[in-house]
Amino acid sequence: MKIKILADEVASQIAAGEVVERPASVVKELIENALDAGADQIEIRVLDAGKRLIAVSDNGTGIHPEDLPLTAVRHATSKLENAEDLFKVSTLGFRGEALASIGSVSHMKITSRSEDAQVGASLRVMGGSIEEPRPVGCPIGTTIEVANLFYNVPARLKFLKTDRTEKRHIDDVVVHYGLAYPDVRFKLTHDQDLTFQTTGKGNAREVLSAVYGVDIAQKMVPVIAEDEILRISGFVSPPGITRSNRREVLIFVNGRPVQDAALVKSLLQAYHTMLMKGRYPLAVLFIEIPVEQVDVNVHPTKAEVRFRDKGEVFRSVGKAVRRALLANTPVPGAGVPRGNALWGERSASAPSGRRSSWMDPGGWGREETLPEGTKPAYQPVIPDTEVPILRLIGQVAATYLIAEGPDGLYLVDQHAAHERILFEKFLAERADEIPSQQLLEAVHVDFSPSSADLVAEKLPLLNQLGFEVESFGHNGFVVRAIPLLLTDLSPEAALRSVVEDFEEDETPLESRIEEKIIARVCKRAAVKAGQALTGEEQKSLLRDLEACQSPRTCPHGRPTMIHLPVDLLEQKFGRKGPR
Ligand code: ADP
Ligand code: MG
Repeated sequence: MKIKILADEVASQIAAGEVVERPASVVKELIENALDAGADQIEIRVLDAGKRLIAVSDNGTGIHPEDLPLTAVRHATSKLENAEDLFKVSTLGFRGEALASIGSVSHMKITSRSEDAQVGASLRVMGGSIEEPRPVGCPIGTTIEVANLFYNVPARLKFLKTDRTEKRHIDDVVVHYGLAYPDVRFKLTHDQDLTFQTTGKGNAREVLSAVYGVDIAQKMVPVIAEDEILRISGFVSPPGITRSNRREVLIFVNGRPVQDAALVKSLLQAYHTMLMKGRYPLAVLFIEIPVEQVDVNVHPTKAEVRFRDKGEVFRSVGKAVRRALLANTPVPGAGVPRGNALWGERSASAPSGRRSSWMDPGGWGREETLPEGTKPAYQPVIPDTEVPILRLIGQVAATYLIAEGPDGLYLVDQHAAHERILFEKFLAERADEIPSQQLLEAVHVDFSPSSADLVAEKLPLLNQLGFEVESFGHNGFVVRAIPLLLTDLSPEAALRSVVEDFEEDETPLESRIEEKIIARVCKRAAVKAGQALTGEEQKSLLRDLEACQSPRTCPHGRPTMIHLPVDLLEQKFGRKGPR
């Protein structure tokens, strides 16, 4: 074969592949452009998970009509002039690639008006071909609409995940910028639904609440550390609030979300011995560093950066986070034996089977020691240890069991507790007891090619979990039975609900997938809140919970119980002064 230079069209599609991987990449680039244009209001509208339309409007500086045709030309940018500038990039964009790339794989329309222009102009780019701009009336700012993404790259389209997953990626992008730019008002709608919104009032905790809920936002621990070069700020979760993956450890360098395994690792190390194995904190951490100290031109999507002195940055991050966490460590309550210097160390190292390891972190007494008006920024740690033998007192609100232990009062959430019990039971028996329900008529379910591969790979597991599924034709499957526990769903929905769990996981590990599926099944099977239980049922629930290996959390990591130590009761009743 002879060597040929690729046609422009092909070359730009190849280049586009690096920048535009999925709808969320488009959202990211358009938001970055809006931020670079100084916008403080950014609205993102998405139709069909971004496959039909992504529209981003901003109130930034706008684009002068003369410049408009250049926006979609590769390597055309207003943010960089010469090679030296590359070493002091202070904008989010600088490669002049995004709009050219997006325009080559979609139908794009840019409508913009700059302050110094009487009227606005709009420009269409259809699969890479740039049309003549036309004058239009519009407010100052820019709207970029991207329709029919990947219409001319069927391979890309095929590799997109379920709408749910693609939407989640879009949500993540918007949330990340929302967190990093609390001064900017973000609004995201999917089809007709308002999914995420910030006020732009500059209050970081307010954005945290919009993302994680008020409860978690209040408990997040502030981090702040500064030296001549670095400024580290943000919020990290106290050890009691964790997730099963590190997806919510977010790190920003000079306002840019970055993915840097080593940075994440140095943050995680700050939690040394405070977290259970396999649990990760939530974190939103901002690193500000002089632009000459960091190279942002490492990766087409600009998701990676290179620090001039990375050791120093990693150390500073670790130190800042560790210091913030220690400052928020609850004081162990009196009467509770103090373990190693950190209460967290007990929870991480307490061997199960040791009854004395129930000790409560004692955080409950802390509230009293804080100056008035300050909220305690922690949540009691949930040690991954056994519970003592409990004496049932009764049920309240048909939802909680009250029990007495040697060390005080226990409130048990019956649903969460039952989930935990079922979960451990299924794991122990390797699920071979999950009863299934034969369908009267076999049901045919089709999957997208990428999902079909996953399903085919996981067939043995599915069959073990109470499904009876086999491959049938191209990307199709026949379902003959489903787990009894899922019979309130249609067979198709039951299978899809489980398969979505495979897809959500970026690096599906067999054991994790199995756990996730079982957790989902258990959630459905567990007694519900609001369900009255007989005395016998309540007792056996407690007995079974005591027998669990990790009785204090449900399979999704939420607490199954709240422990009120005698100590705290005495204090609350004024029998003992606060410490
Ligand atoms: P880059 O951001 O790397 O410069 P892009 O392809 O993303 O490259 O954008 C090209 C140029 O288009 C930018 O340099 C900027 O001048 C202009 N531009 C793009 N989006 C906007 C916007 N929302 N507001 C103002 N100007 C914009
Ligand atoms: Mg850009």
